[in-house]
Amino acid sequence: MTISLPMATPDIQFQVTLNPAPLSDSERQAVLDNPVFGTVFTDHMVDICWSEKGGWHRPRVQPYGPIPLDPAASVLHYGQEIFEGMKGYRHEDGSIWTFRPDQNALRLQRSAKRMALPELPVEYFLQALKELIAVDGAWVPSAPETSLYIRPFMFAKEAFLGVRPANKVAFYVIASPVGPYFGDTVSPVSIWLSTHYSRAGKGGTGAAKAGGNYAASLVAQTEAAENGCKQVLFLDSEEGRFLEELGGMNVVLVHKDGTLVTPHSETILQGITRDSVLQLAEDAGHTVERRPITIDEWREGSASGDIVEAFACGTAATVVPIGQLKAPDFTIGSADAPPGEVTMSLRSQLIDIQYGRAADPHGWMQRLDQ
Ligand SMILES: *Cc1c(COP(=O)(O)O)cnc(C)c1O
Repeated sequence: MTISLPMATPDIQFQVTLNPAPLSDSERQAVLDNPVFGTVFTDHMVDICWSEKGGWHRPRVQPYGPIPLDPAASVLHYGQEIFEGMKGYRHEDGSIWTFRPDQNALRLQRSAKRMALPELPVEYFLQALKELIAVDGAWVPSAPETSLYIRPFMFAKEAFLGVRPANKVAFYVIASPVGPYFGDTVSPVSIWLSTHYSRAGKGGTGAAKAGGNYAASLVAQTEAAENGCKQVLFLDSEEGRFLEELGGMNVVLVHKDGTLVTPHSETILQGITRDSVLQLAEDAGHTVERRPITIDEWREGSASGDIVEAFACGTAATVVPIGQLKAPDFTIGSADAPPGEVTMSLRSQLIDIQYGRAADPHGWMQRLDQ
């Protein structure tokens, strides 16, 4: 069945094809009652085509399912791909919201620029989210700290093995319900310090949210797991001294005097969660420093008692206390350290805004279901 829904922006008409066999209410509820990150997807997906000649065209909502792709599609050979990660939150009154989607839209444009992909207009991005929620709103769970993880992505689909930016590109949005990152209690994680691998280099793609950066991080992530750690911390590739970030999260250290420090670097991803949490910290009177930080500074600061907390942050996990950092020849902190006070306070302030339990002084939340 194909229907057309009236749109807020009249020049973006999404063609909607409803899934003829969506999950039943009870099947969907069973998924929502026990969501496992990134395993089950909603009944529909959004896609918009781009071609050099036609620009962005044929925006549609269609049943979730496999993407037809020519084996010569350049993404499969040269990895021209970028993505975003965001969440839909159900508020107490049933309404559905997302957090700073304009920032994700703008970041997707920056990533596109770096990867020689076309920039999707912000209005198309925002409308795509609303279109998906219009058909799949029932997939946004309502239990505490559950959400609908939303994954917009863009890739080169031109069937051509020559090396140049593709002249055909696709943008998609898919979504998957997720449960709380932590169970009943938030417990600090152990992080592995990668001293052998880098995720990004000067002039490279570290600041773009590109699949290739993740591909480059996986072997280090495996090394982390072998050392009993959940995540990897990467250092700069030139000197191997300066903190960069984790494979998919930014890092922040907290000093005894309440000052928060976080790496400033051209080769890391500018996280929206980090930006927001640091804004909340500034609102509460904390000093925030964005500057190069060496691993020795963390090591010595922790030993002297000057650096008292560390946390990682990103959309999927929000704010995660770091209990210990393990390196091949030293360890900072301890695995059973309790979560830090500043970390936990910022975490709950952020989550309360996202779930509509606290005021939203910066106008970060945007409603998706209307
Ligand atoms: C997505 C991502 C983050 C976190 O960004 P948020 O906007 O906070 O979700 C951090 N680092 C990398 C490498 C990422 O891909």
